[in-house]
Parts: sequence; C-alpha cells; structure tokens
Amino acid sequence: MYEFAVTPAITQLRRPGVIITEVTADSLGEELELEPHDRIVRVNGRPVRDYLDFRFQTAGETELTFQVKKPDGETIEIEFDRDESEDFGLMFEQIVPRQCANECLFCFCKGNPDDARPSLFVRDEDIRLSFLYGNYTTLSSVTDDEMNRIIEQRLSPQYVSVHATDLKTRAYLLGVDEKRADIFDKFQRLLDNGIEIHAQVVLCPEINDGAQLEKTLRDLAANYPKVVSAAIVPVALTRYNTDERLTRVTPEFCHRTIKEVEKLQKEFRKTLGVTFAFLGDEIYIKAGVEVPSRRHYGNYPQIEDGVGMVRSFVTKFEKLLAKAEPPASASGRNGRHDERTHPFAVLPNAPSGATSESSAAAGGTGFGTMLTGEMFAPILREQVDKFNLKYGTRLHVLAVPNTYFGGDVSVAGLLTGQDLLAVRDQIVGDFVTIPKITIKSDEPIFLDGMRFEELQSKFAVPVIPVDIDFFSEISS
Ligand code: SF4
Repeated sequence: MYEFAVTPAITQLRRPGVIITEVTADSLGEELELEPHDRIVRVNGRPVRDYLDFRFQTAGETELTFQVKKPDGETIEIEFDRDESEDFGLMFEQIVPRQCANECLFCFCKGNPDDARPSLFVRDEDIRLSFLYGNYTTLSSVTDDEMNRIIEQRLSPQYVSVHATDLKTRAYLLGVDEKRADIFDKFQRLLDNGIEIHAQVVLCPEINDGAQLEKTLRDLAANYPKVVSAAIVPVALTRYNTDERLTRVTPEFCHRTIKEVEKLQKEFRKTLGVTFAFLGDEIYIKAGVEVPSRRHYGNYPQIEDGVGMVRSFVTKFEKLLAKAEPPASASGRNGRHDERTHPFAVLPNAPSGATSESSAAAGGTGFGTMLTGEMFAPILREQVDKFNLKYGTRLHVLAVPNTYFGGDVSVAGLLTGQDLLAVRDQIVGDFVTIPKITIKSDEPIFLDGMRFEELQSKFAVPVIPVDIDFFSEISS
C-alpha cells in the first residue's frame, strides 16, 4: 500500500525536464529560438525536474548551457551569456502534485460526493506546492530526496500539518502506523537547516483537543521562531463524512477551545512576544465570539488557511470607508444616480463570460444582490450596510446554503454552481455578485463542474465574480 502510493510521486519527481508552454515575444527565450513544447532537460549539466529546478539552476548564472529536447526527439545544446537579472521570458508547465500516502480520518476527499470533479480527489502532499502556495504536507510521505531538495534549494517556509505531537494521536489521525507518523527527525532536520515551518492542527473534538492541543502547541512553541506559527482550524465534515470516529464541531466546543487557547496565547505573547497559535475564523464565528483585533494576528502568517481573513477583510473595509469620499454625484438631483460618475458605473473583475454590456448594465444603479456563504454573510452584511449608507447603493447580502457538500460546510469558497443557482429566485436588483473564489483560478468552472457561462445563462441579470477589490475599485 505504502510503496504503491508513493511510487507515482517518485516517478513524477524524476521526470526529465520541464516543458515550455509560452515564449514571450522579443524575450531572451525567443532570441535563443526556444519554442512551446520544448523540454529543458539540463541547465549547466544539472538535471531539471520542474520549473522550480529551472529557477534554482539559473539563479544568478550569467554563463549558461541549456540541454533542450525538441518535440521531435532531437536534443540540442544552447550556450549563451546573459545579464544576471535578464528574464528568460519563458512560461512552464504546472507542477503536477505528488500524492500523499496517508488515510487521514477527516480527509476532504472522503467528504466529496462521488460525482465531484476528479481534481477534488487529488490527495496532494507536495513540498514544492507547500513552498509556492502554502499547501500543507504531513511530511510523513516526504522522501529523503525531497528533504534534501527543501534544504538545498531553500524551499522555505514549509507548511506542515502536525495535528498532534503525541505520536499515537497523530498516527490515529493520519490513519498510518506510528513509524510513518513519526516526523520528529525530519522536522528537526528542517529546523536545524534554517527552514521555517508554519504548523497546522486540524482540530477534531475528542481526539486532539483539550490537553492534547495544549501539548501540541507548547511543543511547537518551544521551537519558535523556527516554527513561526501554528494554525488551529476546526474539522469540517460534509454530509458524506460518516466515519463514526469523528465528532462534529459545536458552538460549545468552539467556546471551550477559545478559552483554552486564549490562556496559551497570553502566555506566548509574554514569553515569545507573539500570539504564535492562531484559531481559525470559523471557531470564533461558530462560537458567536468576535474575531480578535488586528494586532493579535501580526502579519497574518496563515491567512490562506482561514486564520484572520475576517479581521483582515473588516480592517480593509473600514480603511476604505474612512478614506474614500462618496462621489459628489453619487446621489444626483432628485435622488437619481448619475451613471457616469456613480461608483457602479465601472464594475471591476468582469468575468470571462460576462460581457462588458452586462457589466455596464449592472453599473449605474448600485442595486443588486451579493451572494456569499452562510458563515461570512453576517460579516459582509454589516460592512455592506455601511457602504450602502455612504454611497446610496442598495446592495443586499444573501447567504447561500451549501447543499452540495452539506454538513458543516458554510464557507464561501466551497459554494458550487448548483448552490448559487438554487437561490436564483431570491435575488433582487439589476445584477448579482458571487465570490470570485468559487471559480477555479485557471478555468471558469465551479467545484461541481458547472461552467460559469452555464450559471450566467440561467440568471436574468449579469453575474459578476468579485472579491474585496470590488469595493476598493469602485470607491477609488
Ligand atoms: S494528508 Fe491530506 S490529502 Fe492526504 S489523506 Fe491526509 S488530509 Fe487527505
């Protein structure tokens, strides 16, 4: 099972070369006659496995030799000089994630409906993606080659799912034996070699909470500042997670956890000078407790994990409202909006699929519906109400239940096309906005496979994917 699970990953890592997908006009790459589909196999005699290797092998080098495999199988060598900072003008294929060999109790893959998009079943455990995008790895199925690579190429920081420092508990959560769950040596080796680590705990009631959580956080904090921060996020179970070993997170559980962790946070601020251990926003929202202040989060070390997103949003929004003056003509004579100067005359983030006419149609009125997840809706509504007061707009926030995943899932980012479609009859106004994050970054498609154009075709008004920039752009 273990060998089978890691073999494809090793093959992937050893695939020779990286494929060029794009060559910018008038760039050094074009001058070297490199073309899309060429594969750069070696740089100065050293093998290249992916674009991170390419970046590493070329950094600071002015005299270079590329070994390039052409699509017809011919291998050529190109020798050239370049200025140290000269860009190659090359785009490369994406890194294909290496897969994990764990069987975590709470794995999100087990919470997917059978017909979910295949990419939702990818169990990635990839130190490259951890470095590049903050994806978490457990380190349990990370090989020696990869460990060496992290250190040699300074792939720092790394984001590590620790879950528990008690070995028995960790092994139980990861669904592997204790030998595989034990990452002490790997962890220490990274720290000894100056690789920074951001740790994550997926909090599962009755498994790694209470005294277990305290031990984990203390063990991690003992390595501060090499372990930079720890994020504690609640396990989110969909209606497809039926494993009886898992207990759902309740408001009472969240309350208790906040109290317990607050004590540690106070202690860490005293001894380390930083909060160090951060609870996910969802824990505060579920408990009905206001999220901590801006200062609590420092530089938001794990914001992408849903830790401090709410505070960051509210802070940005408040700054924006304090700074921006409403256009003099936002409410024109007789209370009518001047369509040339009203903030909604230009709508940003027009999606592929939404025409400029549809954006223009949405502009000028400021009357529309903003769809978001149930968890974030009250927070967004509070801010949007202030925005409406200041700008004379009529934006309505509508909370969209997540019926696709169901269970505890209420975050905006996991809303699907069919969830958004289900509230179609409740929208008001001349346009509807949806969270931009619900759409895949490189393709206009939702998690359930529905395409953006299909959703748009089923709404009678323009559908506009937005993020917070929506507000900053229209009020600037
Ligand atoms: S490491 Fe991540 S992807 Fe792998 S089983 Fe655990 S939760 Fe799933």
